[in-house]
Amino acid sequence: MRLRLTILPFYLVLFISLTSLAYKSVAASSAVADSSFSMSLWFENFKKTATPRQMYQFLQAMPKGGELHHHLSGSGFSEWWYELGADPTKNGGYTYYTQVSDKKCQSDKQSALRFHTISETTWITLPDCLQQNYTELALLNENQKQDFMDSIRLHTPSEGREEFFSTHWQRLNELTANPTLVSKILLLNMQAYQAENLQYLETQLNVRYAKKPDGSPYTPDEALAIYTHVLTSEEAIATGVTVRFQYALVRFLPDAEAQLEWIYSFVDKHREIYVGINLVGREDDMRGQPKRFASTLRSLRAKYPKILLAFHAGESETADSNVRDTLLLGAERIGHGLNTIFDPDTLLQMRNSHYLIEINLISNLLLEYVPSFDAHPFPEYLRTGIPTALSTDDRGMFDSTLTDEFYIAVTEFNLSWEEVLTLGTNSLQYSFLQPDVKAQQLALYHQRVAEFENQVALDTVPTQTPAFRAFICKFESELCSGDKE
Ligand SMILES: [Zn+2]
Repeated sequence: MRLRLTILPFYLVLFISLTSLAYKSVAASSAVADSSFSMSLWFENFKKTATPRQMYQFLQAMPKGGELHHHLSGSGFSEWWYELGADPTKNGGYTYYTQVSDKKCQSDKQSALRFHTISETTWITLPDCLQQNYTELALLNENQKQDFMDSIRLHTPSEGREEFFSTHWQRLNELTANPTLVSKILLLNMQAYQAENLQYLETQLNVRYAKKPDGSPYTPDEALAIYTHVLTSEEAIATGVTVRFQYALVRFLPDAEAQLEWIYSFVDKHREIYVGINLVGREDDMRGQPKRFASTLRSLRAKYPKILLAFHAGESETADSNVRDTLLLGAERIGHGLNTIFDPDTLLQMRNSHYLIEINLISNLLLEYVPSFDAHPFPEYLRTGIPTALSTDDRGMFDSTLTDEFYIAVTEFNLSWEEVLTLGTNSLQYSFLQPDVKAQQLALYHQRVAEFENQVALDTVPTQTPAFRAFICKFESELCSGDKE
């Protein structure tokens, strides 16, 4: 039962102002007994008094709704990729090689990229000289292993958009074509989200070009079955995280229209698990402009019942018409929407609308679309009535979590408790879940929030030790220094 009062009794105000800064000791059980506890007022006081560690623990323990902007192949932490890639007993029987030397071999098969990773079936096709540039992933020495892991995350300030878009996926390369391995990345995400108290994950997952250990292709249905098998495993069910997929289309591919037609047909056949389609990739590549897809989408709409679209648009620091053009394509949700702030007509259109903007604060900072968080348009969107939700984008490569996103939102933009709950509710309300499942998920979220508020009032919120990742340790060094409670 959610307990709420608009006026806090004097004795409780006095109590809050005099007690320790720790949230665990702020509320008194008597506040519940006489129905005088106000979560909103408690949270305002907590923001003023909590240490960074206390705030972070609170936000980790807080129920979160859905994660709506999540690229599965960008959401594996480096150590997961290494551990799974290096061990055939964990990855379905594949052996991988990664490029540790760039010795020139005069071969047209040469990749210039350090830590370009290939399967053994590709490696054996290379000329001898080139084979010697690669080392089996399991045989990397400690320094090489560390460098491999650093090569697939943004770990220094000098890395940014170019490094991210031009090298990270190119390095992972054939690792992402192994559905056994990637399905374990999915399970690890679910377990990590369970620890963050998330209940719904809508992740972007493609299955079309998956390969078996002998290098032969899986059919898309065979590859999908590997993922759905994992989702029905005991370990996955134990997380309590509900999962649905979106199919992603890379916007600038030469055959993107044909790919979109195939994706529509595949998603239409698998509506129980595939709930939408996403358009991804750099918008400064002019080959992927939204208008390119208008006629294809129109013809597909004549053939298939409605399929929901969540397209990346406005991931840019300069003005253009991409968000408007993407809404015209029929998108229900906009990924990033950063430059909508420069487009007053679209901004006005999106206020109190049906269109949600998926906000990815850490991604936008690390990929240098905003110079600092205080330049981010998120609070303007949130507080002018544009539906928003927080998400992580490629958290494996950013070495971050959804709790980090909430921590930044609360500490940089002074979110009220009502605003925190609005973000959580939006992340389910604007999900692409089937309507009956969405209603269940919303009811579950409201129930979990009520229970959590009650725990706060009773001072019984379970204390978890957060698994701090590298991004937040750099952003708020106090979190990760000294003794971890
Ligand atoms: Zn994205």
